[in-house]
Amino acid sequence: MSIPFIDLKSQYLNHKTEIDKVIQNVLDHGQYIMGPEVKKLESALSEYIGTKHCLTCSSGTDALLLALMTKKLKSKDVVLTSPFTFFASAESISLAGATPAFVDIDKNTYNMDPSAIEATIEKVKRQNLNPVGIMPVDIFGIAADYDLINHIARKHNLFVIEDAAQAFGAKYNNQKACGLAELAATSFYPAKPLGCYGDGGAVFTDNTDLYDQLVSLRVHGQSISGDKYNNIQIGLNARMDTIQAAILLVKLEHYDTELKLRNSVAEQYNYYLKDFVKVPFIPEQQSSVWAQYSIMVPDRAKVVNALQNKNIPTAIFYPLPVHLSGAYKHLYYQSGDFPVCEEVSKHIISLPMHPYLSETQIKETCETLISAL
Ligand SMILES: *Cc1c(COP(=O)(O)O)cnc(C)c1O
Repeated sequence: MSIPFIDLKSQYLNHKTEIDKVIQNVLDHGQYIMGPEVKKLESALSEYIGTKHCLTCSSGTDALLLALMTKKLKSKDVVLTSPFTFFASAESISLAGATPAFVDIDKNTYNMDPSAIEATIEKVKRQNLNPVGIMPVDIFGIAADYDLINHIARKHNLFVIEDAAQAFGAKYNNQKACGLAELAATSFYPAKPLGCYGDGGAVFTDNTDLYDQLVSLRVHGQSISGDKYNNIQIGLNARMDTIQAAILLVKLEHYDTELKLRNSVAEQYNYYLKDFVKVPFIPEQQSSVWAQYSIMVPDRAKVVNALQNKNIPTAIFYPLPVHLSGAYKHLYYQSGDFPVCEEVSKHIISLPMHPYLSETQIKETCETLISAL
């Protein structure tokens, strides 16, 4: 038996007729850039999340960058983020001209630990730098603790940008991830819970002034109203392709059904594994969109090998915390700076997760894993 880690082929085959048709439509009308599907998708996405505005763009990284660029960051500005994330979270802060500062994570959710934020703010100030914002990451498909984070941010006059690249639509109280901060960014990279067939992303906000800025920044800092060739600021070329928008419109229709299937996969994993390993923790009033199903195991190499011998793939997110990556050597972080994050990095492992995993595949994965422990 061979199990795909993420089964994009089955998903395509399930919706093939619809997807082929909408791609053909784009080929027929020929508006490859900013065609009508783009606006239609933006309306559908903002309606799904419950924000006033949505602006699609070329990737999750560009979505983060666009959101950060609205804040006009300066070289002494610092944005707090999680060290337990994909590199792009911190990278986008650097690209926007500021410096990331890291906050350790909670040992249960693996998201930014709100109780560690204020110590980081004080530390940044002692270095004569300006803390200006917080960018929590909704890791593995579960939203960070925005009630607390937004509260701390207000107290210290900081902005909050939600990195919801892994958590599009995850429930948080009566709201959804992508709508939990002033600005939120998500990714439609194919392997994300809602993926297109290339790169894609989106920014969400309720603030119309920020939205106008995003519209300008997405296309070379173009004028917000008026002269197309009198650019008012430095921007990007960060549009979403019309074909990707057309594909996402179809996939969004099926998203809630796929989330139910992902949930059922996670429940089955939990059933087999909960007495043997630390299974994912979901806080009260929240749900996960299961970007990953990740567990903690004592001897990870042994588990990886046992599963590999049965052709069952695993992945490690993330083996190296961002504060210890080569690109941030100049910030002089050391092993031991963020002990929870570093410990999780050593023991975390993600199992195959997609809506089309069969009960037999899940059972075999779990049995193999348990006998390796
Ligand atoms: C995937 C991801 C990104 C970047 O998204 P891309 O579409 O790949 O650019 C940013 N942050 C997190 C947490 C991610 O998982």
